[in-house]
Amino acid sequence: MDLNLTETQRLVRQTARTFAQERVLPGARERDRKELFPAELLRELAGLGLMGVNVPAAYGGAEAGAVAYALAMMEMAAACASTAVAMAVTNMCAELICAFGSEEQKRTHVSRLVSGDAVAGAFALSEPQCGSDAAGLTTTAARRGGDWVLNGSKQWITSGAHAGVMVVWARTGAPGSRGLSAFIVEGGTRGLLVGPPEDKLGLRASNTVPLVFEDCVLPGSALLGGEGEGFKLAMMALDGGRIGIASQACGVTRAALEATVRYVRDRQAFGKHLAQFQAVRFMLANIKTELSAAEALTLRAAWCKEHQRSFTQEASMAKLFASEMANRACDKAVQLHGGYGYTDEFPVERYLRDARVQTIYEGTSEIQRVVIAREVLRAAS
Ligand SMILES: Cc1cc2nc3c(=O)[nH]c(=O)nc-3n(C[C@H](O)[C@H](O)[C@H](O)COP(=O)(O)OP(=O)(O)OC[C@H]3O[C@@H](n4cnc5c(N)ncnc54)[C@H](O)[C@@H]3O)c2cc1C
Repeated sequence: MDLNLTETQRLVRQTARTFAQERVLPGARERDRKELFPAELLRELAGLGLMGVNVPAAYGGAEAGAVAYALAMMEMAAACASTAVAMAVTNMCAELICAFGSEEQKRTHVSRLVSGDAVAGAFALSEPQCGSDAAGLTTTAARRGGDWVLNGSKQWITSGAHAGVMVVWARTGAPGSRGLSAFIVEGGTRGLLVGPPEDKLGLRASNTVPLVFEDCVLPGSALLGGEGEGFKLAMMALDGGRIGIASQACGVTRAALEATVRYVRDRQAFGKHLAQFQAVRFMLANIKTELSAAEALTLRAAWCKEHQRSFTQEASMAKLFASEMANRACDKAVQLHGGYGYTDEFPVERYLRDARVQTIYEGTSEIQRVVIAREVLRAAS
């Protein structure tokens, strides 16, 4: 892996950093408290090319690659994890449609996603009764003439109330992973009902909703990829998505570390600044070391993806390590703020709440370990 960033990667990172610090960070606390979805910020992100970082220019993307995407995601998450997750899912949907869509689907839907016209993308795989076991999903898509008719429920759909373009998984065949297909659904389609937003521990400015499909009629052209290919599409999208969540974890941790460094240099106890105590310094050292390891794993996974190498295991390792690291680090950041860390006077309580979901969504830590172990055993056989 070449650790030197290219000019393009530096530029994307700088663009994301400037926007994140100047436009996204200032309102992050209020959006979190009031559960305000950052629709306007997402439009501005699209204007900067950050809704299609790894999408070909032919479809309106920045065509800057997977490493640039990871760097941009780290910057956005350091400012606001809720904005970052909406950006992540939109990029994921745009890339998925680019990889498997027909020319018409790419021209219509990818352009809307990356331009901001669709506000956000949504990825609708999980259901009330199955998340980790995605092959068990029960939403159905049945043929009716040239159309498809969807019936069923989805759960936990990020940006689901705002997304103009969604990728939705449904069963078109027999039980198990081979009976699944993916569909592109436009927001506001008749028969698509959006439920009330979840009242969450963290990511409170992110919109998370259940969706219900009640005889929702889609044109034949809504099928994404081949019939029965849905599970493969989902797993491929999640491989890339896990790099996004690993990046998000790195960004949140970096922000937590920076806030903590500021605090321990300022706060005094026993006649000294906290930063002078060795126990405090050792905590900072551990956070920085683990963060650097997580960043390296994340950029390595992104590099493998960018260079068309297999990256399933790399993405899972990055997501597993970075998300668990973020939880340890944000917990220590709160600890080092003492009682103030437990209030919203300082941002570390938000970082801890935002980090918590990272070991759960886009595959729990347990599922990442299942994937990594499978790859380890496969390589050894
Ligand atoms: C804020 C938020 C946003 C989300 N956004 C989206 C989204 O946009 N789109 C979407 O489709 N989904 C989304 N999800 C859903 C998320 O991906 C699932 O919650 C996650 O995959 C886990 O599924 P589950 O909640 O059904 O838990 P379950 O699958 O029921 O798992 C419960 C527990 O059992 C463990 N477990 C399950 N199977 C195994 C196994 N084989 N071995 C060991 N342990 C196991 C899990 O690791 C977990 O600890 C979101 C979730 C949240 C909280």
